[in-house]
Amino acid sequence: MIDQASKTLKDVFGFNEFRQSQKAIIGNVLHKKNTLAIMPTGGGKSLCYQIPALLFDGLTVIISPLISLMQDQVRQLHALNIPACVLNSSLSKLEYQDNLQAIGEQRCKLVFLAPETALQSNVVALLKSVTIACIAIDEAHCISEWGHDFRPEYRQLNLLLEQFPSAVCVALTATATPRVRADIKRQLHIPDNSEFIASFDRPNLYLEVLPKDNPYQQCTSFIKLHPEQSGIIYCLSRKQVDELSAKLSADGYSVVAYHAGLSSARRNEAQERFIRDDVHIVVATIAFGMGINKPDVRYVLHYDLPKNIEGYYQQIGRAGRDGLSADCLLLFGYGDTGKVRYFIDQISDDQERRIATGHLNQMLALAETDTCRRLPLLQYFAEAPQSENCAKCDNCCNESKQKSDLTVPAQKFLSCVYRTGERFGASHIIDVLRGSSAEKILQNQHNLLSTYNIGNEYSKKQWMVLSRQLLQKGLLSQDEQFGGLRLTKQAADVLKGNAPFFALLQQATVSSKISSTPAQPGDPALVQILKTERKRIADADNIPPYAVFADRTLNEMAHYFPRSSQSLLKIHGVGQAKLDTYGDIFLQLINDYCQQNNLQEMTNDQAPSKTVKASSHTSPKTSAKTLEIINAFEEGNDIEALAIQHKVKANTINKHLYDYVLAGNCLNQPERLLLTTKLNKTETDKALNAFQQHGAARLKPVFDALNAQITYDQLHLLRVYFVQHKGI
Ligand code: ADP
Ligand code: ZN
Repeated sequence: MIDQASKTLKDVFGFNEFRQSQKAIIGNVLHKKNTLAIMPTGGGKSLCYQIPALLFDGLTVIISPLISLMQDQVRQLHALNIPACVLNSSLSKLEYQDNLQAIGEQRCKLVFLAPETALQSNVVALLKSVTIACIAIDEAHCISEWGHDFRPEYRQLNLLLEQFPSAVCVALTATATPRVRADIKRQLHIPDNSEFIASFDRPNLYLEVLPKDNPYQQCTSFIKLHPEQSGIIYCLSRKQVDELSAKLSADGYSVVAYHAGLSSARRNEAQERFIRDDVHIVVATIAFGMGINKPDVRYVLHYDLPKNIEGYYQQIGRAGRDGLSADCLLLFGYGDTGKVRYFIDQISDDQERRIATGHLNQMLALAETDTCRRLPLLQYFAEAPQSENCAKCDNCCNESKQKSDLTVPAQKFLSCVYRTGERFGASHIIDVLRGSSAEKILQNQHNLLSTYNIGNEYSKKQWMVLSRQLLQKGLLSQDEQFGGLRLTKQAADVLKGNAPFFALLQQATVSSKISSTPAQPGDPALVQILKTERKRIADADNIPPYAVFADRTLNEMAHYFPRSSQSLLKIHGVGQAKLDTYGDIFLQLINDYCQQNNLQEMTNDQAPSKTVKASSHTSPKTSAKTLEIINAFEEGNDIEALAIQHKVKANTINKHLYDYVLAGNCLNQPERLLLTTKLNKTETDKALNAFQQHGAARLKPVFDALNAQITYDQLHLLRVYFVQHKGI
């Protein structure tokens, strides 16, 4: 059955492989076992019910609380020629009637319902008149009172399920604590062995935190790294949103503001313009994002400090849903901590206020950490990171963030915690260290301790940073209820001088290192042509551009230059329906471009044999040009220089080199290719191994096998080297 699912994945959606967990989840659903799927935003939850819906006889009902998301899904399904509809309060009477009729006449495979609609007796009666194969419950955490978004209507969904005993239920959510998960499983009768939890790591997101010193300038330089790309800028207050968006707009950026203070018409308009790529940047409060599904958001900038990790994770999660790389920058100013604290101080309930403070401290730990940013992030989800160095965050990538030896101040701090009886919070400890004569100190006679007034070399702020690092590295633990600090076993080693303590006391003021090679392997001029066409079609059909084709699809088209329907079908995201609807238009554009620029389709998976090579790759015309270029290369000109000289792209030069070695010739100094890649030996070996394993005919499998860590430009060079050495 799963084979059929894989075939549907390819034929209908145009994707080659299931993502982690999708296969297991879909398999389970197809076996008609009630299933709970927990996946991060962008993890690919929709396919988990869309594919079963296509394979089952009968109708699949999807319960979803967000009207805009339902409509977005239906638009995307229609673009794939899949019959789907919605029933909710936003429809006109006529549309509603039409949809009821389509369901009754079994002309629909998927129907999206708001929970309250699904519970109406006339709707239940209608559903009973047809076969219901599957009931999918999206945002399933809404079912639990323990969740952050409890909706009473969700509570009654088990009654709905009881009415359709032969339908399989799949519940999906991106956020669920163990308690919420247990609640969902109990209410929807999902056995423990049918619960699937995907990793919460989003490896395509590059995470960076910068000290906020000149936020507007930092913001604009970050935007400039992403020209013409979609991004979201989050601010803490509405006022900040209005000011920043006005300023950016005055400076010529394509922005729109979004916050709960705007009328719902203006908010909808802002959202719609963003989704349709009419505007590139949304400046927003956290009110923005729930109802959008835009897969190609390339960056998220936090202009202010988020209140907790959960929110931060959710907001950065809106970037890079399509799996291509995306950048997340947080501007971190100490003043902002005060602002968040102010919000927290307004909470009247003691318990709630303490919880909020705990959450803020976790967020600060992430902002201040000198280790991989993914550590505190994944810790929050009780997940261990894959490795100590993720290679996709500022701390893992940036060697200039040198840690210093802070053993002595750490010893002072720890010893002061010990001498004050392991009962006090960081602020009090610091007051003792810095010799404060506050009443609390005198009352407790802490001015008589040996650690009193021995810490004036650091400011209160710096001691705070140090204390959080001690907490984060496990030398201190904090009483959850009262906030008192206690020593752990690890602290003893540092106190006794048996272990050093290295940390970052001051965040290095580095400029953003984000280079975001946003996996744009395609020929940029052709990508632009294809994007323009995509936008034209989308506007004409009144759908968002990503519902026509994803960015990745256009990039691949502009990389492989498919010239036939058959080749086009091999491109990511092109299934039969999209081929039928858009194939001819896009093939025509690619054809024209290739002819104008004398480009050829990239070879596909059939391994080239020597005889084929000679004939297919060296037409007399190209071979003369190739020879000219080879001679110049052998004389010592580097690729970049040759590209400039011949007014072509570096990759065109690479292609000549490739043609040359493919025809069985040898370059005199192939190592020069390796030097040009600027990769180190380990990376080079890894890449060459990948060629060995996947062959050199197509770069994509090699690119994927290397987890997109090596760019297509580098792979082009390595391929020439590889082919010459293998002699294939
Ligand atoms: P979620 O609902 O979990 O946030 P979606 O279902 O919207 O995520 O999927 C996010 C993006 O990933 C979509 O653009 C979707 O087309 C893409 N996607 C999902 N599964 C796959 C897959 N197996 N291969 C390639 N792309 C996928
Ligand atoms: Zn990292």
